[in-house]
Amino acid sequence: MSAEEFVTYLTWVVYVLIFLAVAARAIRRPERTNIDIALFFAATTIVIALSAAALPAIHLITSTRLIAAVNGTLILGLAYLLIRLLDDFAEIPRYLVYVAGAGWLVLSLGLFLWDESPGWLTLLQILYLVGFQLYGALMFVREARRTSGVTQRRMWAIAAGSLLLGLNILVIAPRTAMPGLEPLWDVLSQTLGLASGISYFIGFAPPAFLRRAWQEPELRAFLSRAASLPRLPTTEAIITELERGAAASTGAPNASIGLWDEEKEVLRFEMPDGTPLDYKPDPKLPAGRAWITQQPAFSANTLRDNPDYAEVVSNYRSQATLSAPITAGERRLGVLSAYSPRAPIFAEDDLELVKLLADQAAVILESRALIDEAARVRGREEAARLKDDFLSAAAHDLKTPLTTLVAQTQLMLRRATRMPDAPADVAALQRMEREAIRLKNLVLELLDASRAEQGRLVGTRERVDLAALAQQVGQRHDSRRHPYQLETNGAAVVGEWDRTRIEQLLENLVENAVKYSPEGGPIEVKVWPNEDGRMACLTVSDSGIGIPATDVPHLFDRFYRGGNVDDRQFAGMGLGLFICQGIAEQHGGRIWASSNPNQGSTFHVELPLSANGGEHGG
Ligand code: ADP
Repeated sequence: MSAEEFVTYLTWVVYVLIFLAVAARAIRRPERTNIDIALFFAATTIVIALSAAALPAIHLITSTRLIAAVNGTLILGLAYLLIRLLDDFAEIPRYLVYVAGAGWLVLSLGLFLWDESPGWLTLLQILYLVGFQLYGALMFVREARRTSGVTQRRMWAIAAGSLLLGLNILVIAPRTAMPGLEPLWDVLSQTLGLASGISYFIGFAPPAFLRRAWQEPELRAFLSRAASLPRLPTTEAIITELERGAAASTGAPNASIGLWDEEKEVLRFEMPDGTPLDYKPDPKLPAGRAWITQQPAFSANTLRDNPDYAEVVSNYRSQATLSAPITAGERRLGVLSAYSPRAPIFAEDDLELVKLLADQAAVILESRALIDEAARVRGREEAARLKDDFLSAAAHDLKTPLTTLVAQTQLMLRRATRMPDAPADVAALQRMEREAIRLKNLVLELLDASRAEQGRLVGTRERVDLAALAQQVGQRHDSRRHPYQLETNGAAVVGEWDRTRIEQLLENLVENAVKYSPEGGPIEVKVWPNEDGRMACLTVSDSGIGIPATDVPHLFDRFYRGGNVDDRQFAGMGLGLFICQGIAEQHGGRIWASSNPNQGSTFHVELPLSANGGEHGG
């Protein structure tokens, strides 16, 4: 056998193999696309069979005119069948299918009419074949660029096959016109023929190993990202990523995940336009079947199978649908579906892939659920711990004044029984009053802390002059040990605030300044509007014990007390600054502290001024 013959036979074998593969598929799934593919390769196979039968070695038939005409008709038919295929795979003008059909009929008729085809007819036939073949190649290229993954590669291969077949016809034509160069043309045309056969084979009936190799990079990319997915901020973000990954891996334009809603007993999808879609699983749609049977499901023509779902199906532009259940162990979480506007994009072994992706999605969603659950447990523990802190702090702080109060009352009672006429012990009564007030303040602080927590600190707002308020507070706190020094530029700093709360804020800061400066020292308060006149600024500084740097970021936390304060020396629950922060923030302002340990602290407050609050008054 010569090398030439070898190439010819190999090409035949390739084409016949493709025919066998696509014919088997068409028998298994007799859908228009599968049948069209099978017809295309049936035509090539008959041409090959006729050529083989006419071989001198086999000599089943002698090459007659009739056989040549049938052969020509079949070859011309390839162009028409290719256009039909194109119509299945891509969007092309409908009339082209009719033009190609009519062309085939007319040009084939010529083959039977003339003994020796006239030159113009041959030219027309070549133009027809080459034109449609190249057009087909172009359209498959366009389709390839629109898709991704396996589908894209298949489209490229089909495009290449069509181009090579077109070129093949082109080079056969001038063969006879150039005597002497015939062997060269033969080699060229045989090579093109073989190459087109291989390309078509890869495109129309890719062997499983090839599909797997093509899927691998996308799958690998998907899996490598999978580990980080459970940590995305929201479940929606995870779903979106999973959908994107599934679409890329299958090469389908769209994929979507429906999560099971236990309460409503529906699968909740989000449609491509963002609207939620609740779908009660039924066996009609693949997603419902996958959910009910817990097996992957496929529908090549979802709309035809289900006219009731026309709206949904058109929203996904889905003709073919592949669905697989997302199930982690016993827990059924939802369904993953991949959609494609064109059926042949999927093959049966894509079911396997979608199943794999759905399993992966199950693991990711389950991890997410576990992370959420862990956060909830932590949250509950934190809440329980805070409650404990609160109770023990409150009980501890309430106990001391209560004990004093009870002891004093009992003492006075005894005294009153023994000496009913004795004058009232004013000093004892004053002590009792002091303790009762302390108790009342503690309870008020606890109540305010819970209001701060709920964001309910600020009541009625009125025009308040911060400078004047600081002046009033100063009058109550000025002492020799702690001289109160107020610095303003003489202007009013007026805002729309809750007067009582702002006063409370100031009082708290000044009281702390006094409390945490056991050695005495001035309390300096400054009030001024900031440069752009939008904020009232206030600082309260002391020269007391200061705050360790590590405590500064936590001072405003509930129950937080600095590491340098001793409970016995400085009474307190660590709620004052928490409340101050609530007051500042709920007025739209902020509060922070700065300190040089052992040299004193400064507390800074900024409050927004009302629109005309910045104007300077008397
Ligand atoms: P309390 O004074 O009841 O502990 P606060 O919430 O008012 O609660 O203050 C929290 C902590 O902030 C205090 O325990 C103390 O450690 C620190 N702190 C507050 N004001 C000052 C200040 N002027 N100087 C030093 N430390 C302060």
